[in-house]
Amino acid sequence: MPSAQAGAPCGCLFRLQSLPADGISQAMKDIFCEKRDIAARLEPVLWELLEKCVLCPRRCGVNRLAGEKGFCALAGEHVPIASYCVHRGEEPAISGHNGSGTIFFGHCNLGCIYCQNQSISDNSIPMDKNMASVAELSGIMLSLQQAGCHNINLVTPTHVLPYIVSALKIAFERGLSIPVVYNCGGYERAGIIKMLDGLVDIYLPDFKYMDSGLASLCSHAPDYPETAAAAFKEMYRQTGPDLILKNGTEIARRGLIVRHLVLPGNVENSIMVLEWMAKELSNKLHLSLMSQYYPAQERGKLPPQLNRTLLHSEYETVAAKAVELGFENGWFQEPDSHKTYRPDFKKKHPFEG
Ligand code: SF4
Repeated sequence: MPSAQAGAPCGCLFRLQSLPADGISQAMKDIFCEKRDIAARLEPVLWELLEKCVLCPRRCGVNRLAGEKGFCALAGEHVPIASYCVHRGEEPAISGHNGSGTIFFGHCNLGCIYCQNQSISDNSIPMDKNMASVAELSGIMLSLQQAGCHNINLVTPTHVLPYIVSALKIAFERGLSIPVVYNCGGYERAGIIKMLDGLVDIYLPDFKYMDSGLASLCSHAPDYPETAAAAFKEMYRQTGPDLILKNGTEIARRGLIVRHLVLPGNVENSIMVLEWMAKELSNKLHLSLMSQYYPAQERGKLPPQLNRTLLHSEYETVAAKAVELGFENGWFQEPDSHKTYRPDFKKKHPFEG
């Protein structure tokens, strides 16, 4: 297994495809016009969903525009931005040499009890000080492009999608042209993902569970396996298995990268996830197999099996299964990545000293 960048997925093996060299400019112009039009078309539809919120599989049915709050505990016309930065620790095809323009949204529609970003994802923590308008969000997107980032990386976007689409519409009108990355926990409605066809360039979801009991225990979502499966099939329908690269580089321009975080004591769940992907999607897609789990919560708040880091033998068993199933594109992490992946969202840049 190759060595990893601290706390980040490491380069492993590639079978990559590039855009054609000719006709890029006109093709790109057409794409940006189309993306702006898609955003304009989606905007009213998605905002209407907030009035009886069914944005995600929880289908809380609350009127978020009237101040009612559902599972994700958000309401109103502003969006919680916990942090944004030039992130150099994502998969190499996402971070590239200039970094990924990463925007971390506050709160979450999944609420995993072991969340590694709990200081910003915990729905019980008020986000009052970090609320931004749609116009401010579009300005952040443009500033990240200005900083040279390869993409706009939307982390935990599911529960704030209408705000994102409105901000993207403004940003496209003002010249945003880098790819849009949808970086989510996999608990998505397939129908909503279908709406994003042509707007999102790169899906970067985490496929967490095929074990319904584990999904219930850890994320209060016993329907995660079948719900995520439908959403992943839709993402795959849009992208296919190939990662399309920016011409002459190894930086992703379009495609699907599936992450999976191996949880301690739950190797069987990981193997079921890999088997499902190989059978129902493709073993040609890009897999990012993560070992960075550590108990981020206070002692006593997690079930015993999650109160430790991953054993090397557990990660190696899952990695060996991935190889056995024929996955040959993507990245493995160093088994000790948990020592270095410790974001601090109190700092301006959560991942750097
Ligand atoms: S986005 Fe939030 S309020 Fe809407 S259905 Fe999901 S968890 Fe409930």
